[in-house]
Amino acid sequence: MRQTQGRGIHKPSNLSVALSITTAYRTSDATRPYLDTMGEDGYQRYMYEGSDPALYTNRALRDAMQLRLPLAYFIGVAKGVYKPIYPIYIIGDNPGSLEFTLGFSAAEVGINLADLSAPDRVYAARTTKQRLHQPVFRGQVLAAYATSCAVCRLKHAELLDAAHIISDAEPDGLPVVPNGIAMCKIHHAAYDRNFLGISPDRVIKINEDLLNEVDGPMLKYGLQAMHDQKLIVPSARRLQPDRERLERRFDEFLAAAS
Ligand SMILES: [Zn+2]
Repeated sequence: MRQTQGRGIHKPSNLSVALSITTAYRTSDATRPYLDTMGEDGYQRYMYEGSDPALYTNRALRDAMQLRLPLAYFIGVAKGVYKPIYPIYIIGDNPGSLEFTLGFSAAEVGINLADLSAPDRVYAARTTKQRLHQPVFRGQVLAAYATSCAVCRLKHAELLDAAHIISDAEPDGLPVVPNGIAMCKIHHAAYDRNFLGISPDRVIKINEDLLNEVDGPMLKYGLQAMHDQKLIVPSARRLQPDRERLERRFDEFLAAAS
């Protein structure tokens, strides 16, 4: 798929409007939240190509805005791996800052962002997080962990989640790879509820009450057998879970058990 190579705006030569936009993955994306490019109004921004607003690719996006046509947005989540987001609309054009504003419905095209009420901004920010930031975080974490549970090695994307180490309900619970761990649904739920903990040295711990329980194979093989096993993490250091975050979270696990 040629249009997904690198950053850019894809406009087929036989059309006047753009079909897709792309943001390529950079190494720093693993540690820097993709949220960086969200405006105060809660909407995501997309930089012009170059600095000439009249460049044909920038014009093609403006045409898509005027015609209220949907675009596909390809966001790089690892080298050569893209998360497609569809549909996305160009809802505003900001030549002063050389960027477009992205929204999720044709009805948002042309709305006055400066006039948005506080609840509208909160709603827009929540939508941007759900529709863009969370899928990007999931894509980045699953790519970093080679689509495999860090606890049990299960390799089915449909059964995997990107777990937060520090919860996204907390102000510093950022959607960045060092704050994420790929886990299957059962291990993610067990981690969130402190049945399973991960020490700062990345050793898996199972809650003591659970270790002493006697039950069927899910408890025995799925949970108890994981106790004292090493978490399986990406080999690149920048993709590994952050020690300080693990430590903070492990304190919660220990406190829940006492
Ligand atoms: Zn698992």
